[in-house]
Amino acid sequence: MLKGKTAVVTGSTSGIGLGVARALAAQGAAVMLNGFGDAQEISALREGLERLSGAGAAYHPADMSKPKEIGRLIEETRERLGPVDILVNNAGIQHVSPVEDFPAEKWDLVLAINLSSSFHTIRAALPGMRKRGWGRIINISSAHGLVASAGKAAYVAAKHGLVGLTKTVALETAASGVTCNAICPGWVLTPLVQKQIDALAARERMTPEEARTRLLAEKQPSLDFATPEQIGGVAVFLCSEAAAQIRGASLSVDGGWTAQ
Ligand code: NAD
Repeated sequence: MLKGKTAVVTGSTSGIGLGVARALAAQGAAVMLNGFGDAQEISALREGLERLSGAGAAYHPADMSKPKEIGRLIEETRERLGPVDILVNNAGIQHVSPVEDFPAEKWDLVLAINLSSSFHTIRAALPGMRKRGWGRIINISSAHGLVASAGKAAYVAAKHGLVGLTKTVALETAASGVTCNAICPGWVLTPLVQKQIDALAARERMTPEEARTRLLAEKQPSLDFATPEQIGGVAVFLCSEAAAQIRGASLSVDGGWTAQ
């Protein structure tokens, strides 16, 4: 379905981003990987994507907290794989602390990576999409883009902001072949969430298994994690013709979290 298309997936060396990159490659898209990690592992991931897609795959180490590097990510994708048709804004970090103790520099970093980076990538990639009359912008927000949890001031603010940015870009592109939507996952078992499980287990003297069950029971009625593969499947759907009139939507993949 996506043969001849080029995708950029930010923060795709791990977790949800990697799941999305693989799902897009399986449909034939050339994929630019981005994110941190071990050079050899990233090189293996890149080769895996090429095998999956039969198209090109590349890696760019842009730090998504740095606007200049974000500009280079989009520019170098164009040079190495072709103009960006699909942009998945996925890079994100978490920091948990009561608001009055929240370190100001952590606030700035979470806002920069989880929100502002999407403004910068969209600004750089959208003109080319408009010119070619087709594009898909997919912002990985969160259940925390729709509802809040205590201790996550910066993350919740950034993810709500990303839902707002999604709606605005969808309106500005409404009469074009470019769509912009958000996916709002609940708990997905990735390194980002494993850290929170480990912290809960240490704090409450639980086994990792008990902590995992407690985390799910608090928020996610299905009592099961969503998977990176499922988020990838939703991203592929948003790239399909069936989704051409889905614009400015926030698609929840959260086991019922925000239905409560
Ligand atoms: P993860 O920690 O497994 O992956 C994060 C990715 O972002 C990694 O590739 C990492 O290298 C990259 N990254 C981090 N900082 C970066 C930076 N400054 N520049 C470039 N890349 C950077 O996390 P994940 O759980 O897969 O999360 C991916 C996205 O999904 C995030 O935006 C997160 O908020 C969102 N999300 C996750 C969950 C969940 O339960 N895991 C739920 C809802 C939303």
